[in-house]
Amino acid sequence: MSMDKIVSLCKRRGFLFQSSEIYGGLNGFWDYGPLGVELKRNLKDTWWRDMVTGHDDLTAPAGAPQAYQMVGLDCSIIMHPQVWKCSGHYDLFHDFMVDCRESKKRYRYDQVVGRWVESKGQKVFVTVMPETDDPATEIEPRALKFFNLRAKQADQLVYHGSHASLATISDMATVLAPDAKQLGTLTPPREFNLMFKTIVGAMGTEEDAAFLRPETAQGIFVNFKNVVDSSRVKVPFGIAQIGKSFRNEITPRNFTFRSREFEQMEIEFFCSPESSNEWYRYWRDRRYQWYLSLGLSPERLRMREHDAAEIAHYSCGTADIEYAFPFLPAGEFGELEGVAHRADFDLRSHQEGKLVKKDGALVVETGTDGKPRHKGSGKKMDYLDQETNRKYIPHVIEPSAGADRATLAFLCEAYREDMAPNDKGEQEARVLLKLHPRLAPFKAAIFPLFNKDGMPEVAQKLYLKLKKRFNVFFDDGGSVGKRYRRQDEAGTPYCLTIDHTTLQDQTVTIRDRDTLVQRRISLDAVLPELEKLIEG
Ligand code: ATP
Repeated sequence: MSMDKIVSLCKRRGFLFQSSEIYGGLNGFWDYGPLGVELKRNLKDTWWRDMVTGHDDLTAPAGAPQAYQMVGLDCSIIMHPQVWKCSGHYDLFHDFMVDCRESKKRYRYDQVVGRWVESKGQKVFVTVMPETDDPATEIEPRALKFFNLRAKQADQLVYHGSHASLATISDMATVLAPDAKQLGTLTPPREFNLMFKTIVGAMGTEEDAAFLRPETAQGIFVNFKNVVDSSRVKVPFGIAQIGKSFRNEITPRNFTFRSREFEQMEIEFFCSPESSNEWYRYWRDRRYQWYLSLGLSPERLRMREHDAAEIAHYSCGTADIEYAFPFLPAGEFGELEGVAHRADFDLRSHQEGKLVKKDGALVVETGTDGKPRHKGSGKKMDYLDQETNRKYIPHVIEPSAGADRATLAFLCEAYREDMAPNDKGEQEARVLLKLHPRLAPFKAAIFPLFNKDGMPEVAQKLYLKLKKRFNVFFDDGGSVGKRYRRQDEAGTPYCLTIDHTTLQDQTVTIRDRDTLVQRRISLDAVLPELEKLIEG
């Protein structure tokens, strides 16, 4: 499915707009329109309900070692700067970037792809723009132009090796930058911290510097003791949080996939060290199934265990849940959620100070003076198991999802084009969003067939009754066929039409977006029927 069509539907129907569009937009920032805000809110509510408030804490779920509790939290975006020093974000949360002196563009070092091409006795690493779908088709024309050759002289180009990341190249003088005509216009790679810096208070000195959180997780860790002491939870239990995070991404791209302001849905699940591997597998599988249960297809969704080289220094296991977004080249997947076994790394860091791995063990990092490089809070982060009287720092499993990436995945999956009968009964092309009813912005639309004979009154009464329970839409404009088409594009799963028969026998037609089947049900049965269809 072409991404252009999805992007244009999002704009046309009010799912997503570029932030500050009237001023030309701001790269990496997005606004959700009237339909988009409902879709994203439904996604977050569904996650919260399934993971937190609706979670059955009395029975062990399939695959889980035992029953467990879940509670929620909502922390501030700006936290004490020491949080980020101990978490490692202050020192380690970097990407490398390169600047092009000719085009004035900035690229993420690892995202620029190119290939060695030789001609006329010169060997050049020819690169293409990071968002290029198929580098192979763009490298040749760039190389021909650079070597001053015509298309029919392509046999004078000799390729060496296959495509590679710019990060594999040591000599920038041999690189033809993505949007440059001359050679060697890229600066050497420079480190760039992804955290947004701000100033707290009026003094404006460096001591008042603070950061917008780059993840919601740390707010959970620093409140671990508060939650244990105030809510009577017992290990194993999880704390969930949904909220905004900020990362000054060097190259925001692919619609909302990589934004600078985005929302995360994170769980920190605390368990005993002995049971942690079992819990890791449980959460990994549970989270994968969650996306399937809401309609992502198994062909486009995969779970990928990280190999040893990719795993963060503190982690004992990490898996990414990934989706084959249509903007990615065929066969490539983009991360929706990471599920990580983080051991006791985070709680210990906030107790003792920033940790590093030394000889296979996590130890507090010290400076040249032998003192901790970033001092912890000194507060005990351990947990007393009342039954066994054992004190320990719990291990943590972290399923960390992005609300914007998930919303985008569900939009991409839902987009369909098919044929459906129009008002005259002829087959006509239609666009529909086959969203799961729990996610759909409107659950139903109510149409009076004609604006006369008492139909609008019956329709309005039904509309107001349903509105108390669900987000529903009232539409009395244009032919019924056109009204159906508008709802199909918005992803509304059911349409209810009030017609002449309604006035005689108090029944309405209910039309299913996906099957197009229409049936009559009584007016009184509409609410329970929708409850059954939407909530199962
Ligand atoms: P990536 O490698 O794609 O940058 P990440 O591994 O840094 O992602 P995490 O730190 O694990 O991401 O964050 C957890 C989740 O938060 C991701 O799976 C993703 O859904 C979401 N997320 C992270 N960065 C962004 C972003 N820039 N824009 C939108 N969502 C994001």
